[in-house]
Amino acid sequence: MARSDPEPRDPRRALPGVDRLAEAIRAAAPKLPGWAARAAARAVVDAARGELERDGTQPSDLVGRGVASATLLARPRPTPVVNATGVVLHTNLGRAPLSTAAASAAAEAGRRYTDLELDEGRGRGDRVAALGEKLVALSGAQAALAVNNNAGALLLAAHALARGREVVVSRGELVEIGGSFRLPAILDAAGVTLVEVGTTNRTHAEDYRRALGPQTALLLKVHRSNFEQRGYVAEVDVRELAGIARPRGIPLLEDLGSATLVDLRARGLPEESWAPARLRLGADLVCFSGDKLLGGPQAGVVLGRRDLVTAMRRDPLARALRLDKLAIAALDTTLATLLEGDPARELPVLRALLEPAAAVEARARRLAARLEPLASGSVKVAVEPTRAPVGGGSLPGFELDSWAVVLRPERDADGLADSLRDAPVPVLGRVREAAVWLDARTLLSEDEAAVAASLAHVLADGAR
Ligand SMILES: *Cc1c(COP(=O)(O)O)cnc(C)c1O
Repeated sequence: MARSDPEPRDPRRALPGVDRLAEAIRAAAPKLPGWAARAAARAVVDAARGELERDGTQPSDLVGRGVASATLLARPRPTPVVNATGVVLHTNLGRAPLSTAAASAAAEAGRRYTDLELDEGRGRGDRVAALGEKLVALSGAQAALAVNNNAGALLLAAHALARGREVVVSRGELVEIGGSFRLPAILDAAGVTLVEVGTTNRTHAEDYRRALGPQTALLLKVHRSNFEQRGYVAEVDVRELAGIARPRGIPLLEDLGSATLVDLRARGLPEESWAPARLRLGADLVCFSGDKLLGGPQAGVVLGRRDLVTAMRRDPLARALRLDKLAIAALDTTLATLLEGDPARELPVLRALLEPAAAVEARARRLAARLEPLASGSVKVAVEPTRAPVGGGSLPGFELDSWAVVLRPERDADGLADSLRDAPVPVLGRVREAAVWLDARTLLSEDEAAVAASLAHVLADGAR
């Protein structure tokens, strides 16, 4: 500019305005919605101003950055991804995928009017009553209830059964799960006093006996879902706890975290994963998540004594924690599959858990054959055995024999993994031994085509 300023010119003036950048973003990518272009433009201009002020660098390619950022913003959330990690219940990937039937039921319930709260066409009904019947049929429990999630089930149980009084828990079971679930915080929020017994590694029957008093309202046992204790350890099992609690008239609640309603113990699943057996061993109530081993939508399932379930149902918090109609439809259909269908085939979680390694190997070989021609030498494709953890805050230390398609780039396996993660259908594998491992145990039927499309996209893009 010809005009000479007395002060040095402010370089921030060189940045485009938000509106102008938003227009440029839409001109470069006309399919992007206007709101995403504007939000991205605002973020890019802010970031560029920050870079200028911090280190004086003149930001470049603002339009390119804006298009990338707007594209991410405009994606539907959650966006489907391919879970090739082998982790069957992956917390960051939404835990259990629903069966096709459960997903359709949720979509249908969402799209149409339903009899959600009609009582056989006559009056106001209970929206979860039908779920309760199926849960009772599956478990043999006296009564059942389903709420928003398992943390909610625990909060509701503590509030309804022990508010203003004491809940006794072993110090070895004061767990934190997924960052935001900390048992002491949940009990605190429920307005109960936590009475800790035993030590981190060892808790004995005598510790419980000594802690029980006139203020005790609930004895709580919590599954250590995401860690193991080994070595010099001791805990009191549910049968012995029942022997302590029952004569004193104190209800025993076991938070199982992850549990099934079909008996898979003969298939190698641990003892405590089968919820009905815990009731038979003496728990008055059990609770667990709907979207872990059960293979359904997010929910908290409660099974057990009728009087206790009734108290929970009548608690004012029950309304705040109630299930929505989409989840009710999905859970109902999942339970129907467990009752009448072929759960090991229809429920993706059970399929992934129970499928023989040979079937996983066949899937891996089919996928490898599909990827081989795309890789064209720049990436070596192999099929190798591996181990798949169950994950998702369930069954710590429990792993399955599995098979993976192994993509070995000439260099930079991390780069290949990152690109696959950024592909239009993101593919999440694991990097090991300078290769990307795509575990075939957790692949769903539509995933094979998606992996092929994403790999083709990545290789065309980066020539890695
Ligand atoms: C996963 C888990 C929870 C939390 O369940 P959400 O359904 O995620 O609320 C609570 N307790 C235990 C032991 C768990 O494993």
